[in-house]
Amino acid sequence: MTDKKETGLDAMAGDGGYQEAYFADVIRTKMKRDNKRFWAGDNISDYLHEGDKDRLIDEATEAFELVLDRLLIDRESDPNSKGTARRLAKMYFNEIMAGRYDPAPDATAFPNDSQDRYEGMLVVRSELRSMCSHHHQPVSGVAYIGIIAAEKLIGLSKYTRIAQWCARRGTLQEELANDIAREIEKATGAENLGVYIQAVHGCCENRGIMAHSSLTQTTVLKGSFKTDPGAKKEFFDNIKLQQEFAPR
Ligand SMILES: [Zn+2]
Repeated sequence: MTDKKETGLDAMAGDGGYQEAYFADVIRTKMKRDNKRFWAGDNISDYLHEGDKDRLIDEATEAFELVLDRLLIDRESDPNSKGTARRLAKMYFNEIMAGRYDPAPDATAFPNDSQDRYEGMLVVRSELRSMCSHHHQPVSGVAYIGIIAAEKLIGLSKYTRIAQWCARRGTLQEELANDIAREIEKATGAENLGVYIQAVHGCCENRGIMAHSSLTQTTVLKGSFKTDPGAKKEFFDNIKLQQEFAPR
C-alpha cells in the first residue's frame, strides 16, 4: 500500500524525478514501482484517496474529448455530443468501472459459532452488470452464489454487493466467477462454495457475430462443492428452484 499523502496536489513529480503531466501518470508510476497490477479487472482503491477521483474524471474528460475529435464528431455544435466526454468520464469512474476505484463493500460478519449455528447451504441470486475488457461492451446476467455456512455469516444483501463490486470493472466472465468466489471466501471464511454465472454479452450481440441470446455460463466450485457430488447436486438444484421462481 502506498503512502496516500504522496498523492496530493503538491506531489506531481514521479519517481523518475521528472514532472508528471497528469495525475493519472503519478498514480501509474507508484503502482509500477510497487509492482501493483492494474489490469482492467483489478481494484486500485489503495492508491486513491478522497478527491482523487474528481481529478481523474477531469483528466479522462480531456482524453474523451480528444477521442470524439478523432472520431470527427462535432462536440461544439451537436447538442447531444456537447457534454458527452464528461458524461463518459463520470460513467467509467462512478458506474461501469466503479469496482476498480472503490474499496470493497463493508460486509460486517456475524458469528455463526453458537450451538444452534446454521450449518446448511445458502444460495443467493445476484443480478450482475459488467463490461468485457476487450471491447467495453455490456455484460448482464445473474450470479448464483452458494456456500456451506462457516464460522461467520454476512448479511444477505452483502453477497450481491460483493458480486457487483467485482463485476463493475472490465472483466471476462471466467475471471469474474473466480473473483466473486475469492471475495466471498474472504468475507465469509467459507471454504465450501460455488459461483455459477449466466450472462449475455454485448460483445456478441452488438458487434462481431451479432448473435442474440449469447448466453454464457461459467462455474467455479471449491471444497465440498467440488468433491462431494451431493453438495454439487444440492447447489444446482437450488439454482433450478431459483430460476423457476425468478426466471430471467
Ligand atoms: Zn468483448
